[in-house]
Amino acid sequence: MPGYPPVQPGPLARFLPPLKEGCVSRSLKTYGDAGELVLDPFGASPRLVVEAAQANRAVLVAANNPITRFILLHTIQPFTLAELQIALARLAAAPKDGSRLEPFILDLYRTECARCGASVLAESFIWERDSEGPTHKIYMCDRCNHTGEATATEADWERARVHSRRGLQHALALEQVAPTGDPDRRHAETALSVYPGRTLFALITLLNKLEQLTLPARIKAAGQALLLSAFDTVNALWGYPEGRSRPRQLIASPRYREDNVWWALERAVGIWAMEDPNLEWFECREGELPEPGTVAVFPGPMRDLVPTYQDAEVRFLLTVLPRPNQAFWTLSALWAAWLWGRAAAAPIKVALRRRRYDWAWHAGALRTVMAGLKPILNPKADVLAFMPEAEPGFMAAALAGFDSAGYRLEGRSLRLDEGSAVLRWSLADFLKQPQTQVEAQQRMASAAIKVLRVRGEPGSFSLLHAAAWCDLARDRLLAELWSVEDSHLLTTLSETFEAVLADPKTFVRLGQYVEPESGLYWLADPSQVNQPLADRVEMHVLEILRKEDGLSEVEIDERVCQLLPGILTPDRRLVQVCLQSYAVEDPTEGHWHLRSEDEPASREEDCQEIRRLLVELGERLGFAVQDEDVLIWLDEQGGLVYTFKVMETAAIGAGIEEKREVPLTYVLPGGRASLVAEKLRRDPRLREWIQDRVGVIKFRLVRRLMTEVGLTQENLAARLNIDPPEHHDPQLPLL
Ligand SMILES: [Zn+2]
Repeated sequence: MPGYPPVQPGPLARFLPPLKEGCVSRSLKTYGDAGELVLDPFGASPRLVVEAAQANRAVLVAANNPITRFILLHTIQPFTLAELQIALARLAAAPKDGSRLEPFILDLYRTECARCGASVLAESFIWERDSEGPTHKIYMCDRCNHTGEATATEADWERARVHSRRGLQHALALEQVAPTGDPDRRHAETALSVYPGRTLFALITLLNKLEQLTLPARIKAAGQALLLSAFDTVNALWGYPEGRSRPRQLIASPRYREDNVWWALERAVGIWAMEDPNLEWFECREGELPEPGTVAVFPGPMRDLVPTYQDAEVRFLLTVLPRPNQAFWTLSALWAAWLWGRAAAAPIKVALRRRRYDWAWHAGALRTVMAGLKPILNPKADVLAFMPEAEPGFMAAALAGFDSAGYRLEGRSLRLDEGSAVLRWSLADFLKQPQTQVEAQQRMASAAIKVLRVRGEPGSFSLLHAAAWCDLARDRLLAELWSVEDSHLLTTLSETFEAVLADPKTFVRLGQYVEPESGLYWLADPSQVNQPLADRVEMHVLEILRKEDGLSEVEIDERVCQLLPGILTPDRRLVQVCLQSYAVEDPTEGHWHLRSEDEPASREEDCQEIRRLLVELGERLGFAVQDEDVLIWLDEQGGLVYTFKVMETAAIGAGIEEKREVPLTYVLPGGRASLVAEKLRRDPRLREWIQDRVGVIKFRLVRRLMTEVGLTQENLAARLNIDPPEHHDPQLPLL
């Protein structure tokens, strides 16, 4: 179910699952019915909860992380712009050292313009990790209009040094999380180290001020929201220039920016002023059930929710599977303690103990949660889980975790080029007979072969991996293997799978790569393969466009995905290029319309004209022309010289296994050029084949050749190369 990139990414978007907008509501059209209760056991994605409630589901969500829960509640009922502005204004005007808080904080970032010497406020200072002072500063000078980056000075170093990590604010920041004597104190200290000293000083000053002000509850919460976003944007995780857009480890970037905290606070206003979905929520602790269209938020872990809902029979689970993120989990514990005190952070304080969350750990965690909630499930319960950040390790952990918790994989839809997968499970009690490693290896090999055959084109490691693991999960073999293999299942099976792919009798590797995860795989024996997926996608897009006018891109994408489901799901980029090849977008409405020249009748006429011209041209140049499925030009001795295939589409992949004595020349409309280029980019086989064995020319070249005087049999070959399709254009980023 495709969706749109969100218009408003929302708070902490770099840490929350990058779920596309609309994919949940689209999925709910075919999953359960309006009015039904759905349970989200992980509460990782506010967007999922909101879309489910908007689709008139009664949503019960367990949200144990106070940070995600805060975002969830204020996504369901967002702050108004006015509330956020009042919170900011109250903070700005709060008294501080005989002045007000805003100028006090801004003054921390005072520096001199490198060009005219005027006193200016820095937007950011740039630091090298572990250095004692900033290397650069970024500012805008009102006096001389100098903007951009300048080298930091000795004075900048001095000012940065004033706010060392040993100051009062640092002690307060630490005390709030882990007081003296707390076993987690040193872990809290490590977590604090991703904040530059001056940043920490500014944040804790703001936090204390917010605490002291007497504010209505909503305004205070709005102030906390602004601070939370500032906590996120001003730490050293974010690289400079742009980099590490989704950090997972709590470690400063080698080069990071120390942002002006006040301005970060100001920017946060726009982040939190979200569109109001007009929904209601309540906090449930005693097993209350929500009405359709409302959200019941359980402020704790799933394991505590289950006993309060013993009488419930949950039929539908809808969730985004969380992926381990040491950075986010640790910072959540820190931020929750800062904003709401140690007690609020207690449920997730364990995250402070820095640890590596490997995939085996994650599989075990998912197993515990999913097994633990079975008492409140209806025997016919159905699970629909989104994974917007799927990768092989995560897929393996999810599949193994669910399988051994007693769920059978019913379906999967994979768009792995953008890291997205949707998985569906049912409750299942049957287990297959125990399998051996050898049998598992055979299963994985045949699943990988099958996915390449049905797609008819080379596939990535992650695709083959997902196909193989899903195949095992479909028959609940992972649970069996895990019970035999103990905790090493993920490692052993990964090695087994790599061994499968390394077998040159079955798979060929396209390109020179060392890591098994890189490049594309294809079959050593490419018989029994389907028509290439890229060509099928093109056909479907064209059919849809000719049948229904004025659809949006997502609607077309959705139709294509329905026609090519599961492991056939094509990548979005291909669908887009197909669309652009045949249609134009009405920029105001976002609707797509077939180009007039691609209307069936006009294209048919076009193709007939080109065939006629090719017959004429061949005869004029002295060839004997046979007008069959392909046009054949013979010389005087009856030898084959040229064969042309006139097509309206760019479905050139079908001929790839054909053996022809004379290279085939495809004659296509000019509008197909970028589509041909995209197909060549995706498929190295096709690239090689086009270069060696065939040519592609545009209709307009044929028309031009007809008007050329002095064209002969001898110079024709060279002339056929003068109007190359765009894959020869060095301007296009093809590889
Ligand atoms: Zn200046």
